[in-house]
Amino acid sequence: MTELTQLLLRRIAKTGPISIADYMADCLLHPRHGYYATRDPFGATGDFTTAPEISQMFGEMIGLWLAQVWIDQGRPAPFTLAEIGPGRGTLMADILRVARAVPGFAEAARVHLVEASATLRTVQRRTLGDQPVTWADTVADLPQAPLFLVANEFFDALPIRQFQRDPAGWREVLVAEKDGALSFGLSAPAPLASLAHRLDDTRPGDLVEMCPAAAPITTEIADRIAQQGGAALFIDYGGWHSLGDTLQALKAHQPVDPLTHCGEADLTAHVDFEALAQAAKAVRVAPMTPQGVFLERLGITARAQALARNLGGAALESHISAHRRLTHADEMGTLFQTLALVPHDAPMPPGFAE
Ligand code: SAH
Repeated sequence: MTELTQLLLRRIAKTGPISIADYMADCLLHPRHGYYATRDPFGATGDFTTAPEISQMFGEMIGLWLAQVWIDQGRPAPFTLAEIGPGRGTLMADILRVARAVPGFAEAARVHLVEASATLRTVQRRTLGDQPVTWADTVADLPQAPLFLVANEFFDALPIRQFQRDPAGWREVLVAEKDGALSFGLSAPAPLASLAHRLDDTRPGDLVEMCPAAAPITTEIADRIAQQGGAALFIDYGGWHSLGDTLQALKAHQPVDPLTHCGEADLTAHVDFEALAQAAKAVRVAPMTPQGVFLERLGITARAQALARNLGGAALESHISAHRRLTHADEMGTLFQTLALVPHDAPMPPGFAE
């Protein structure tokens, strides 16, 4: 049993069962025992691999996307180039490298990283070398300036709550204690105003998830883009509507029980893009688009072919497999979705279509 499991059991014994959101928050970000607070979880030797760690092409496409929306809006200078949940800093490094080819972009960009983990801030510093960077704890701490922002696999790491539909309302799925171990339980049923809109599309027994932190973060970003210009690109696994249990724990690239390995496994849930879109009323929301389609429209295949010309043997094999992983429907191509926010009067951003 991990030290964090013992802390959680003591807390539950004292104050009663806790929500999955409280559980996730401690497992991921507890200052001493939290998953992100204590390690660099990425890559072959870690627990999971993200798109920017698979191939430089991912960050290159996103860098060109950001540069194009910046040009479409009249090249505002200076502007905030922000990433939330930057992991190792690989995506931002690739964005900055490719954007150097776009006159004026790098000079006008002020790079800000929103990162909760002190350990990962150190890794990001190392990855970005001499590049001037400012770290922020939250999106609200970003400076007031045109905001061009990207978030890859950020929203899936935010704590969720789960509710099971019941004839008498909703029962919340809680983390409780049973026989000395953590165990899922259900609260008494109660009506819930924030889930009133899900009464039409669910039946008793169905489970829905809600991510309390996602909407306020999205609204903060949307309001800034509406007022000062800019754009946001969200990439994550999930779908338009949350239905069913998607809480998952990964350790060493294998799924594990989400209630064991507290603080030692990554915990995520699928992102409800409809909830993000609804929180972005102040801006134009480009329609949710599968990652594979988005990357193809941006020209990832032409880029892959250009890079392939200088490769051979195992390096070429691995390059081809990286392109497939990022775009193919059986891999990340449709599991991952993209959503973009731009001001109401801005053109449709590249990679999206009506
Ligand atoms: N975007 C990166 C990493 C994704 S993992 C990539 O694609 O490789 C999730 C990232 O979000 C980590 O950097 C984690 O420390 C950070 N994070 C998780 N919760 C956060 C929060 N509430 N505020 C800021 N950063 C957070």
